[in-house]
Amino acid sequence: MAAALAAGGSLDAASSAGGVKPPRFKPFEIPDLEPRPDFWKSRPDEIVALCERAKRCSRKEVICHTPLGYPVYALFYGDFSDAPPQTNWSAGKASTTYREYYGRRQGGRPTCYFFAGDHGAEPETVVGAMNLIQMLETGRDFRGESDPELLDLVSKYRFIITPCVNMDGRSISPDHLRGVDWVTFRHASQGTWAADGSRIGWRGSKAWFPLPLDKVSYPGGYPNADGYNIMHDACPGDLRTAEAKALLNVAARWRVDAVLNGHSYEHAPTVLVPTGIDYPEKAMRGLAIRHRCNMALHERGLLPKRPVPPAQGELPKGAGININNLLSLASGCIALTLECSVSFAGPWKHPKSTKDPERKYTFEELVAPVGTVLKEYLKDGLERPFVDRGPETVFGD
Ligand SMILES: [Zn+2]
Repeated sequence: MAAALAAGGSLDAASSAGGVKPPRFKPFEIPDLEPRPDFWKSRPDEIVALCERAKRCSRKEVICHTPLGYPVYALFYGDFSDAPPQTNWSAGKASTTYREYYGRRQGGRPTCYFFAGDHGAEPETVVGAMNLIQMLETGRDFRGESDPELLDLVSKYRFIITPCVNMDGRSISPDHLRGVDWVTFRHASQGTWAADGSRIGWRGSKAWFPLPLDKVSYPGGYPNADGYNIMHDACPGDLRTAEAKALLNVAARWRVDAVLNGHSYEHAPTVLVPTGIDYPEKAMRGLAIRHRCNMALHERGLLPKRPVPPAQGELPKGAGININNLLSLASGCIALTLECSVSFAGPWKHPKSTKDPERKYTFEELVAPVGTVLKEYLKDGLERPFVDRGPETVFGD
């Protein structure tokens, strides 16, 4: 259940971080980890404090609490005074006009939902979201810098930000993984089996839902405190986490048109291919937006290899199934995942990696993809609506 708060309103004890339970596992420690720069705000207490302070948003909600009791926030910028839809997207799409779902939103400003930190061990997009909130609130980010182009684009949207979905995972994760070795990166991310100290691994972690917490010495910052990988809490009729349900509720309630789902991995920063099951028109549009964003990352020098334009009418093989599918079903939105780079140290070289193994991104470069991708994504939606909401879209009986 979402708790709506007046913008700038203070939180009661139940929604502040004060009522948080201690984690079952100790936070992952990396000896001699490079200190984070001042603008790198990624800790749960900092996330809660910034959301509590926010006053320029028109609406503020605690959309759920995590298993440990952390509040998960959504901050709303723009006009969110519309009444709830009279029907859901599934029924509304089959009705006489999309208006039945979109209501008076039809033809209005598009709605974008940017959420970060589905996987708590991946702080880069959390830091990007925190700096964007600070810029929306004060005109400048935590570095004291402004991005007038991004602010102007956001102002043309109804814009929703959840700076960190998986607060539990974040609470036991290092501030960052810049410069750590690949083995440590894996242990910090997906955890360690208790029996023999071996890595659970990226694919190994997905063999369980939830991860059996009695068999691990550390679960990684990937899942929430119940062991669930929120990104894959995507089985209709069997949703397990309050976090996934809350994301879907936000999309459906506010008729979200576009989602940016923030993550990090060991490769160069990239927008991933759209998920494998989607409305065909959404998948094709998503591919085109993905290419545009990745070209911008390439032109900024963050993605070494020049992206190849997508083949017409064809989704690349291996496209995944995750919460993005359900988000598309919840509101008809396009949902794309941005993977920033964690910039771990070698030796490691995946034969298909797009990352230059010698490249070590600066802290600024680790976060830069958030602004670069958001700008291209938002520009694309202004050039052509993400979703057909035209009043002329009227179907017969
Ligand atoms: Zn991730």
